[in-house]
Amino acid sequence: MTHSYPETLLLIDGEWRPAASGKTIPVVNPATEEVIGKVAWAEKADLDAALEAVAKGFRVWSQTSAYERAKTMRKAAGLLRERADEIAAVMTLEQGKPVAEAMMETMAGADIIEWFAGEAQRVYGQIIAPRAGGVTQLAMKQPVGPVAAFTPWNFPINQVVRKLSAALATGCSIIVKAPEETPAAPAALIRAFVDAGVPAGVVNLVYGVPAEISEYLIPHPVIRKISFTGSTPVGKHLAALAGQHMKRATMELGGHAPVIVTEDADVSKAVKLLAASKFRNAGQVCISPTRFLIQDGVKKDFLKGFTEAAKAVKVGNGLDEGTTMGPLANERRVPFLEELIQDAVDSGASLETGGRRIGNKGYFMEPTVIADAPLSSRVMNEEPFGPLAVVNSFSDLDEVIEEANRLPYGLASYAFTGSQKTAHELTMRIESGMTTINHIGLALPEVPFGGMKDSGYGSEGGSEAVEPYLVTRFVTTAAA
Ligand code: NAD
Repeated sequence: MTHSYPETLLLIDGEWRPAASGKTIPVVNPATEEVIGKVAWAEKADLDAALEAVAKGFRVWSQTSAYERAKTMRKAAGLLRERADEIAAVMTLEQGKPVAEAMMETMAGADIIEWFAGEAQRVYGQIIAPRAGGVTQLAMKQPVGPVAAFTPWNFPINQVVRKLSAALATGCSIIVKAPEETPAAPAALIRAFVDAGVPAGVVNLVYGVPAEISEYLIPHPVIRKISFTGSTPVGKHLAALAGQHMKRATMELGGHAPVIVTEDADVSKAVKLLAASKFRNAGQVCISPTRFLIQDGVKKDFLKGFTEAAKAVKVGNGLDEGTTMGPLANERRVPFLEELIQDAVDSGASLETGGRRIGNKGYFMEPTVIADAPLSSRVMNEEPFGPLAVVNSFSDLDEVIEEANRLPYGLASYAFTGSQKTAHELTMRIESGMTTINHIGLALPEVPFGGMKDSGYGSEGGSEAVEPYLVTRFVTTAAA
């Protein structure tokens, strides 16, 4: 079956249009390396138009009632579900993931929109008891203003929908700088909002050179809030720029998630759940389990089971039936992973399975398991962001907690244990924004999603995700 791939345009002031210069960027299918389409390349003239539109959009949307905003958002969620088959195929063509995963991401996008639509109607202020008679003191929440959001290519819809939904729920307008590698799925998401009736200028969509766009939008006085998902070095740079211009920022950055499995854990359940989680989206997930720390007594069993699970992964074109892992989304990730694996082996680690690129067409990488990597090896310190797991061992809890907290990252952590006491110790002492124990339970719309330390700040899920899009104003009135 052949699937068509659309040309992606900019959305500025309610109009889908090419860049003013007419320039475009090619889009490549990572499974075939074929150019499948192109995306409009915004430059200064387009950004100026988007800024003018987003300022106008804010005036309109911030005056629209929360009830109306929620209604429009729910309609967009419905349209996304109706179009999910087509959108999932487009996402697989541009990003590579198995079409079933693309479908799940699209449907989850609709759930996220609906959840935030509910939150739109639950933004409350306070009346504060006055010190004098006749005085009314009011703390009120208002939308912070036009938002600039920068999103990456690993989850083309999910990364946009969280920022977009929080902004629209609270009455903010937004310019989304979506990924040039995977432009069509985010455009389809945004089209659902346009078709649901979001007024012109409220949502704008641009693509181009990421650094040029962020350097232009972040300092611009129209923009009041930044949200970025991507790597820690870029996040630090953009957070500094936001700070310099006194802009609010949410930063969802890299991770190197530790996984702790103790001797009293259900090891076969841990293997099954963690292998599925590791190789989902070819490991290109910020919360992907990465540093497997297995207690001595169960290390051999765990490693054997996990290696078998890695070998059973069916790598192929995401559109082919039976594929459970697609290619990496970008050519540049292949040599990076090969270097990381080579360095681990050179440092004395053992390669249990995988380690190589598959074929020479498409960015396919073998699911890879490395054991006993020294702490000094690169893989124990740098985020692989690929289908690579490292399985090391530990003997006692203090030792493993020290190792889990050793890196500057603090996004997700995983544990499997049969002991309530151990679960409590880990809950209290692990330095990560999210911890999931004895199951895989992260990233639902209604729960917080965010990191600590070098993994960033702010939340993209739960009620915590709404607050950064609001300002608290205080108004006090004495009776006339
Ligand atoms: P990268 O650092 O070049 O880019 C990461 C993302 O940031 C991309 O979407 C890119 O377009 C964007 N970006 C880069 N420079 C920017 C700038 N100056 N202004 C605005 N946006 C900018 O890395 P990459 O090769 O694309 O991805 C690999 C690394 O990125 C991984 O190690 C991973 O840590 C990180 N990453 C994280 C996530 C996540 O979900 N947190 C998603 C994708 C990539």
